[in-house]
Amino acid sequence: MFTSLQGKRVLVTGGSAGIGLGIVRGFAREGARVALSARNGERLAACVAALRAEGLDVQGFVADVAVAASVRNLVDEVAQAFGGLDVLCCNAGIFPSGSLDELSEADWDQVLATNAKGSFLCVQAALPYLRQAEYGRVILTSSITGPVTGFPGWAHYGASKAAQLGFMRTAAIELARDGITINALLPGNVLTEGLQEMGADYVASMAASVPLRRLGSVDDIAAGALFFASREAGYITGQSLIIDGGQILPESLQALG
Ligand code: NAP
Repeated sequence: MFTSLQGKRVLVTGGSAGIGLGIVRGFAREGARVALSARNGERLAACVAALRAEGLDVQGFVADVAVAASVRNLVDEVAQAFGGLDVLCCNAGIFPSGSLDELSEADWDQVLATNAKGSFLCVQAALPYLRQAEYGRVILTSSITGPVTGFPGWAHYGASKAAQLGFMRTAAIELARDGITINALLPGNVLTEGLQEMGADYVASMAASVPLRRLGSVDDIAAGALFFASREAGYITGQSLIIDGGQILPESLQALG
């Protein structure tokens, strides 16, 4: 049904774990050449080795999305290694928790720098390469938290995820001149390493609040990324795709039955 992504050159930030790793696998299984980036070089190397053992065509690059020079270096290295770039997945993100009473200025800055500024820096650095692509694609990993919902402890996180969407809407207009689309995935609660660190009680209560009665899988989110990257999604830009098992829908606990 969809045109093959075979040979597409893809960069996934935060690709060494969780949703990013799911997106990496998704593209690589479609025959794309995939670069994955993260800060921790050891975990990244182990991840690359495991993916290659599965027969997937991947390369790892150490970089911090919150640092402009690191991002420029990353994107240039990936484009050099692959001879260009077709798809940029801005996925790297952090979600430390802290109530409004506790949050420090540094906590706020770190989350905004990684989640929101990181997306801007990556898109800006990738633009010259995406313009050369047959059809360029940018896919942001945002969240339901912030754009649609709230959760105590995540005021800074919610602000960063909503900021990604504000950035996207103007970027979509500017990028459209070059035939590049930019869209966002809004996952609900997805069972990743990062989410598991929130604890078993949190995970269980989240699963209970989802009409489809399970947390999302990284493959559920990767499917959205593959769709936005497809040739067939070329007339969709500046849009958000909620992938949450219906989590935002119930008006009360009773609604879940
Ligand atoms: P995760 O399991 O903690 O993985 C995060 C990835 O991002 C890792 O590869 C990490 O590697 C990388 N990373 C973090 N900070 C980075 C930085 N400054 N520069 C480069 N790489 C960085 O997280 P996840 O749950 O998969 O979340 C991924 C994305 O999905 C985030 O944007 C998150 O907000 C979003 N999301 C997650 C959920 C969920 O339920 N899990 C729901 C909605 C949205 P290093 O630590 O080595 O850098």
